[in-house]
Amino acid sequence: MNGRRNHWFVAGAAVAVLALAPLVLGNFAVSLLNDIGIASLVALGLVLLTGVGGATSFGQAAFVGIAAYATAWLTKTQGVSPWLGLLFALLLTGAAALAIGMLTLRLGGHFLPLSTIAWGLSIALLFGNIEALGRHSGMSNIAPLSLGPWVLADARSIYYLIWLIVGLACGFTFNLLRSRPGRAIRSLRGGATLLASVGADAYRVRLTLFVTAALLAGLAGWLYAHANRFVSPSPFDVRASIEYLLMAVAGGLGQLTGALVGSALVMMLKNGLQDVLPLLSQRGGQLEGVAFAALFILLLHFARSGAMGFVARLTRSAHGRFAPPGTPRAGVPQPLTRRALPTPGSEILSVAGAVRRFGGLVAVNDVSFNVQAGEIVGLIGPNGAGKSTMFNLVTGTLPLTAGRVRFLGQDVTGMPQRQVARLGMARTFQHVKLRPNMTLLDNVALGAHSRARSGVLTAGLRLNRVEERQIHDEALRQLERIGLADRADELAGSLPLGTQRILEIARALAADPVLLVLDEPAAGLRRKEKQALGDVLRKLREEGVTILIVEHDMDFVMKLVNRLVVMNFGSKLLEDLPAAVRADERVQAAYLGSVI
Ligand code: ADP
Ligand code: MG
Repeated sequence: MNGRRNHWFVAGAAVAVLALAPLVLGNFAVSLLNDIGIASLVALGLVLLTGVGGATSFGQAAFVGIAAYATAWLTKTQGVSPWLGLLFALLLTGAAALAIGMLTLRLGGHFLPLSTIAWGLSIALLFGNIEALGRHSGMSNIAPLSLGPWVLADARSIYYLIWLIVGLACGFTFNLLRSRPGRAIRSLRGGATLLASVGADAYRVRLTLFVTAALLAGLAGWLYAHANRFVSPSPFDVRASIEYLLMAVAGGLGQLTGALVGSALVMMLKNGLQDVLPLLSQRGGQLEGVAFAALFILLLHFARSGAMGFVARLTRSAHGRFAPPGTPRAGVPQPLTRRALPTPGSEILSVAGAVRRFGGLVAVNDVSFNVQAGEIVGLIGPNGAGKSTMFNLVTGTLPLTAGRVRFLGQDVTGMPQRQVARLGMARTFQHVKLRPNMTLLDNVALGAHSRARSGVLTAGLRLNRVEERQIHDEALRQLERIGLADRADELAGSLPLGTQRILEIARALAADPVLLVLDEPAAGLRRKEKQALGDVLRKLREEGVTILIVEHDMDFVMKLVNRLVVMNFGSKLLEDLPAAVRADERVQAAYLGSVI
């Protein structure tokens, strides 16, 4: 908790310094601070997009430009208030980001960065060629902002507005990252399958993030236009985009404050270079690009986590980078609503003739079985028998080559994984999919994603308090169930692998599942821990949760399950009670010589 108090102290000191700065600084320094504030909004979006979400954009300056030109054009030609210009600018920026995002975000790999370069180039070209936007000479005499009787016409008067907006934007993003949509955003790097397993759509999460980052750039563009009262194409070209990216990297993609520190570093460096470089050569402008490229390379080599990463190492802050543990205040909200469990004994899962081929390999070959409500069914077989693939087919993680799957009376064949998850099927993975830099609590809270509603706006404005408390309580309850509640605020990456598997079970349980699908949950656990896990699973069965489990430890699984399905070379060998399976010669032959 001491760390948190320190954070508030540092934040308070920063606010005080910023509030007093214009009283002691000269005009030049105040304008520089204005530029830093405006740029930090763009960098903040990039810390979100690139640092948190893992998507690189080389086109952020284009969004700044769209907003700047939008408000410049509207206020000049229509003579309306700059505040209407803000609305117009944000609408246009948001719509542009939505369109670009929808075109590019489904494409994987390097497509996004490449297409943002193309996009950045073309927008700057566009500004330079439209008559109504003043072509290359741009537009000048843009109206200043005014707040009632105050006209914010010079650097000193607009200063406080800029930094107020920066403060609000920081608060918004801070809140956002500690919320339901924020946890989904922070999980993007874990891959689409992880998100789908909790009922979230990675594409939509990424699109929302892209638009949010663009809107922050749009806000900056609007401020830019009315602070400088002049727009021209060059501040919005690809070179500018790279500078914004450099700010985010220099400050540290690992934390929101990196955006502020990074834009300050780069802006001051840029200013310094503009003074020094012309003394070295007449082509100072070009040298600036070289100096920045060199800085970029140095950063990537020696200080990947940027200035704030360095500070974090010095202060050894032990908490999740984006989410200092916030214990919601007292007052007991209604718990999250639970789904009605099916009557025990009714059929909830039915797999009929499931086939999955990988090229010539038939990993699952015509397998059929059923699962009834309230039982634990074990799926066993030697390594490579096709068990994990079978789980991927059942949960919708992989499409079937042939066959059908029904879940809760619904044909879910070909249904996207996230929809199957939302119906009440929660899973864990043989190869653990946790977010190592998120706390245990946040990892489990992600599991409750589809049980809550709040989006970016409600989360950023902190209108999600009740829901967050419900999610928090639910996550804590599941952590208690698996005996990890006292470590709720530690990072998931600090757990041993075996315990990480157990944590995945808690995440699955946070979704309030009807059917829990567990792929080797006991692997890597010690005897005592296995016993505890067995107890938890038996208790879940008593509560009416149905479980389908792959497990290699025969003693463990025999004591636990009601029925076993045995697979070998992709086919179903037999299905019977544990004792009968243990005695079966075919099973012993299948396991003979294989490592289990
Ligand atoms: P198990 O979980 O029973 O050990 P798996 O389902 O992981 O077995 O694998 C079954 C077979 O399918 C193996 O031969 C494996 O190499 C193959 N396999 C699994 N996933 C893939 C994939 N994505 N691409 C190609 N082959 C795969
Ligand atoms: Mg497996």
